Amino acid sequence: MSNSLRLKAINSVAGRTVSSKAVKNCDVSAIYGEDVFNLKIMKDYLPKPVYKKLLSTIMNGESLDSKIADDVANAMKRWAISKGATHYTHWFQPLTGTTAEKHDAFIEPENDGSVSLCFSGKSLIQGEPDASSFPSGGLRATFEARGYTAWDPTSPAFIKRDENGATLCIPTAFCSYTGEALDKKTPLLRSIQAISKQAERLLACFGEKCTSRPYTTLGIEQEYFLVDKNFYLARPDLIQCGRTLFGKVPAKHQQLEDHYFGSIKPRVLAFMSEVDQELWRLGIPAKTRHNEVAPAQFEIAPLFEELNLAVDHNMMIMETLRLVADRHGFACLLHEKPFAGVNGSGKHNNWSLSGAGKNLLEPGSDPHQNAIFLTTLCAIIKAVDSHADLLRVAVATAGNDHRLGANEAPPAIISVYLGEQLADIIEQLEKGPAKSAKKGGFMNIGADTLPVLPKDATDRNRTSPFAFTGNKFEFRAVGSSQNCAGPNIVLNTIVAEAMDEISSQLENLNKKDFNTGLQSILTDIIKKHKRIIFNGNNYSKEWHDEAAKRKMFNLHNTPEALERWAMPENIAMFKKYGVFSDTEVKSRLEIFEENYKTVTKIEAETALNMAKTMIIPAAVEYQSKLVDNVAKLQQIKVTAGVASQIAIIEKIGSLLKAAEDAVTALEAGVAAVDSAKCIAAQGELRKAVDQLEQIVDDRVWPMPKYGELLFVY
Ligand code: ADP
Ligand code: MG
Repeated sequence: MSNSLRLKAINSVAGRTVSSKAVKNCDVSAIYGEDVFNLKIMKDYLPKPVYKKLLSTIMNGESLDSKIADDVANAMKRWAISKGATHYTHWFQPLTGTTAEKHDAFIEPENDGSVSLCFSGKSLIQGEPDASSFPSGGLRATFEARGYTAWDPTSPAFIKRDENGATLCIPTAFCSYTGEALDKKTPLLRSIQAISKQAERLLACFGEKCTSRPYTTLGIEQEYFLVDKNFYLARPDLIQCGRTLFGKVPAKHQQLEDHYFGSIKPRVLAFMSEVDQELWRLGIPAKTRHNEVAPAQFEIAPLFEELNLAVDHNMMIMETLRLVADRHGFACLLHEKPFAGVNGSGKHNNWSLSGAGKNLLEPGSDPHQNAIFLTTLCAIIKAVDSHADLLRVAVATAGNDHRLGANEAPPAIISVYLGEQLADIIEQLEKGPAKSAKKGGFMNIGADTLPVLPKDATDRNRTSPFAFTGNKFEFRAVGSSQNCAGPNIVLNTIVAEAMDEISSQLENLNKKDFNTGLQSILTDIIKKHKRIIFNGNNYSKEWHDEAAKRKMFNLHNTPEALERWAMPENIAMFKKYGVFSDTEVKSRLEIFEENYKTVTKIEAETALNMAKTMIIPAAVEYQSKLVDNVAKLQQIKVTAGVASQIAIIEKIGSLLKAAEDAVTALEAGVAAVDSAKCIAAQGELRKAVDQLEQIVDDRVWPMPKYGELLFVY
């Protein structure tokens, strides 16, 4: 019984859980941020002038004074050691989309055989990991594989704890010897700088002075699934691919909508409590937790923060979810579509822009504020319509292909939802200035006839990929496993471009013509870009037809989307705003394509392996049992029930034939490195296998079924 031995081994691995680290009756304010080298700690540990210099680097993005590096490093070391740290690491985000770390101990051996603990300013500011095995998309040949990590002082250092110690983690950017970005953070920081600069310019057109730089804010809602680790370890597809490649949806799944916001099972709540505590220690403002739509699906959302920090924090959240899940005997699935037939997981990217002391997407209470709000809104409409293809590319991954355009997620068509009230205002704006001050007449910017803008978005549209939600835009197409840097690099850059173009027009206006000039600029924008606005049901067939009529992009899958990435106009824009160089854009394309092909191939090979060594043998075993039984019945001349058993034997036979044909096609697809062929053949294979699952004796079925994965925990 090889199967039972395997299961025993799996069970013993699964049984080795570390007990929960949660504190009962936790004092939140006492633990909050205790593992972060934050401003408060810096102030305590640093000489006053050093603290002041560092603060202006952090707050105003001024370049770091290398003279203070030693002082800062020393303070960081003392603090980290007081927290039990023995090592430090530059923590970075290579183009794999994950995070990377290489630990160095603080030790410095002395001549007398003792050791002292050191951390120099140089080690803080710059690291030099070998890094030759990270994807670079041709940016760097192996012989010149040196990569540099450079401290990002705008994201605070933190302590990562393990069972037996702790490590000081220093968020860094990762570049090549020649200064090309080999990571996700560098272009993100550049895009933040670009939009900040353009927002400052735009605000200046309205006479607003910025004492500190405008900044983007981000709140990320993270969806995930939890499955029991015993089941997880019995599914090679979950282990290898993070999603199930086979499995029939059980009779009951999400139809009753009884999971969404339901009361949280004690075991899950214990897990969530520990996650929250770990995140609070790291100064991550975890706020919301709840059951999601699909069974075994959940969500965590922190409060919004400055964008760069929010992206780092989301990477830490994903890691924390995985680690804590393991301790609680769960596996946390962050894949966009772990289960066919029930909802997949996304990551709602709530984005906004603040400057001159206010959120620019907050509808104001006076005409001046409203004019800024409407201009920002129009800049975003213009940006999204002009670059809908780039936003689509930014969320194009093999995993997200199973979600976007399927019936529960936003479609692959990027459109903007404004809500009824705001859409109405935009419509008025399109018609031009008011002829009279008549209530309900056309809108007049800068005059007090301006209608009252919606204060809070009471209407919500869950089907829209890019929705205005009161004081921010929610980009809902981002995949649950994605690093949010990619989508926000695009979003920041395209909005920077739109603001740049609008500012250039506004700067040319005479002061006394400002309001009428602004009015006509906004009217033009709406006329030109209003096709991107859609307030209806994005899942409907009518919308797909309508979007085609409006000549909007509908990039169905990753390969189609990727074709748009390195278009000359896109390269030109990224270059213009200093976000990506020409070669950096092309290197990303190479990596995206390679990743897509590799994921598709891994899934194909896993499916083949499971079909050939687990599923087909199980079906044959059951079929042969039936054959034996029929033969025996015939020997003793029993006829009742024989025909129906023969029918089952035949049904299994025809499904086995279908499975084997699909296996042959899939093998051909793998050999030809043809992703489209692989996906099609894998679909056929799954169809046959999922039907077999419903016929074959449950006792010989070689892996846990959806009913167990989704409900037994
Ligand atoms: P939901 O969309 O599910 O109703 P919430 O209204 O709670 O969720 O908001 C979702 C996320 O949006 C949260 O992380 C919240 O902090 C964030 N958010 C709120 N205001 C802003 C803002 N100005 N900029 C960026 N994110 C914001
Ligand atoms: Mg939301």
